[in-house]
Amino acid sequence: MLVSAIDFVDIMEPQELIKYCPNCKENLVLEKKVRFKCLSCGYIQYISPVPCNSLIITNKAKEILLVERRNEPRAGFWDLPGGFIDIEENIETSVIREAKEEVNLDFSPLDLHYISSNFMRYPYKGINEHLLNISYHAYMPVGQNIKAGDDAKSAKFFAAKDIPWENIAFTSVAKMIKTYLKSPGLYA
Ligand SMILES: [Zn+2]
Repeated sequence: MLVSAIDFVDIMEPQELIKYCPNCKENLVLEKKVRFKCLSCGYIQYISPVPCNSLIITNKAKEILLVERRNEPRAGFWDLPGGFIDIEENIETSVIREAKEEVNLDFSPLDLHYISSNFMRYPYKGINEHLLNISYHAYMPVGQNIKAGDDAKSAKFFAAKDIPWENIAFTSVAKMIKTYLKSPGLYA
């Protein structure tokens, strides 16, 4: 059963799971809210957000492309195309790779327009992960066809008035779409 987007505050924080120094295996002590320190060797273990991306693709009718999530967390909910940034990728190459995998569209870095970045939580196997989501906008490329694949079960354009807000996977993604819809001149 689908429930509305929430922030997953009732599951385990990553800080509750980090116990041992990766360098010397001694116990770590939470020094500040955002980092641990090993009192044995001095190693600092930061609790950093994991970077990920979302892409707002609009067509000539100014509708927004959403994808239906195939996998947990939030399988069956609507999301923007996007995903995690792999090692040795920059943000643009990561956005372009995810767009190809999920909706089979080809973009170049110059097609991408920065929208916003949002802190978000991501429930993964009982842990409430910290993410930093970076969002871009691109226009639907002329002469290309959308084909859902990989993490996207289906893909569909929605007019602003028809966005299924109750079934958007993450609060932060809904916030990003709202930020985009407030762009001056968008519906002028
Ligand atoms: Zn240590």
